[in-house]
Amino acid sequence: MVKKVRVPACYEQFHCVAAACSDSCCAGWQVDVDAVSWKRYQKEEGDFGEYLHSVMVDVPGEEGQFRLREDGRCPFLNLSGLCDMYDKLGEKSLCDTCTNYPRFMEDYGELREVGIAFSCPEASRLMLSISEPMQFLEGEVSDKGERSFVSDVMWRTANMGIEDMVVSDEEGEYIIHSEAFDREYFQMLFHLRETAFCLVQNRRLSMADRVLLYLDFGMCVQDAFDREAEESLNGLMDWYKDEQRLLSRLKRLRKEAEYLGVVDGERIPKGELRYRLLPEYIAVLYQDLKHCKPSWGILLSEAEKVLHKEMTAEQYHDIYQAYDNDMSQREYEYEHWLSYFVFKYFLKSYFDDDIYGKVQLAVMAYLVVKELAVCQWVKQDREFTKENQIELFHLYSRELEHSDDNYDMFEDLLHTENMCNGEHLRAILLEWVEF
Ligand code: SF4
Repeated sequence: MVKKVRVPACYEQFHCVAAACSDSCCAGWQVDVDAVSWKRYQKEEGDFGEYLHSVMVDVPGEEGQFRLREDGRCPFLNLSGLCDMYDKLGEKSLCDTCTNYPRFMEDYGELREVGIAFSCPEASRLMLSISEPMQFLEGEVSDKGERSFVSDVMWRTANMGIEDMVVSDEEGEYIIHSEAFDREYFQMLFHLRETAFCLVQNRRLSMADRVLLYLDFGMCVQDAFDREAEESLNGLMDWYKDEQRLLSRLKRLRKEAEYLGVVDGERIPKGELRYRLLPEYIAVLYQDLKHCKPSWGILLSEAEKVLHKEMTAEQYHDIYQAYDNDMSQREYEYEHWLSYFVFKYFLKSYFDDDIYGKVQLAVMAYLVVKELAVCQWVKQDREFTKENQIELFHLYSRELEHSDDNYDMFEDLLHTENMCNGEHLRAILLEWVEF
């Protein structure tokens, strides 16, 4: 049973701006309809019921979907940018996806974590409106969903989708189906994530150092689990929270950097790894994953042209440095981006034991968005506004997190592609830290 709810501190301030949205979630996205709503829609009568049935498509083995219009818009999105389903049948008629988006949710035993996704431009704007480190709030709900000190929004969140999870017992009370929950393992992951937050939000270090240390931490933690050396994890967490030790770890990593410039047996000159490997990563995103929005493909191909075909490795290096200097006051935007990935994905390793994969996902999000940002900054005469950043985070999240096909394919690529391995990522990140 959900007893605690954790949300980002800005969560309650989120409001969908509907018709005023710069990129409605009702355009270009295929919505999977949950089984309960699907059955309800099948029973709908009258003219609207007839229209509804004409756009319902059964997907064998999965939930149903609505047939999108030729322009990729939801069949219920009207010309004023509003939802006809909402208008004709009311808010409660919306399926789970439409009701909850852009909120995402994961249950871990008694804890439910809920956040808002960067794929919604408004959520993205809200998360970047605060320069302080991303904070989280926790509230409690009672067994029967009664609130204690939680606010309205958190209370509703705690009860979201709960009908699917409960059956009534004889006394009319609710029982939640839950599998055996490994509390000890989860607690360990939870503490490891706290350490991860300390690392990515440590403002005494540069963003480049933080990303590097987060990757390093993820590799060490995964290694400890793989060797079944869980007893070493407490020491590891203390170690990664100790400022002096972090500095000496950075020193050591930098020394090792000398030996990391070898890719597939070829020695790559120092300072050229990022220049050589980033276009390969971008090419994978461009060629292997489908593009939900054409603007995404344009951004990817522009980065290759502007930063690689038209620049030497030396110019590329200098441009990155100039960008970092220019944007030094806005490093917190990348910090929030990384904090979001830590919050959303780290604990999911409870379900698949793949901690390093979750860290890799965050590091890739950082590398790719930064590459695209540098490209836009060059193109716009060394200007890159907060709105530009919001747009990049939003697009990346929309393309890679909120297309199930793309997300699954990307996760597989991270596991199978040699070029995305930890050593290469570490080598690339080491080129960003000061020697
Ligand atoms: S993308 Fe966000 S702001 Fe835009 S319509 Fe969807 S939920 Fe509302």
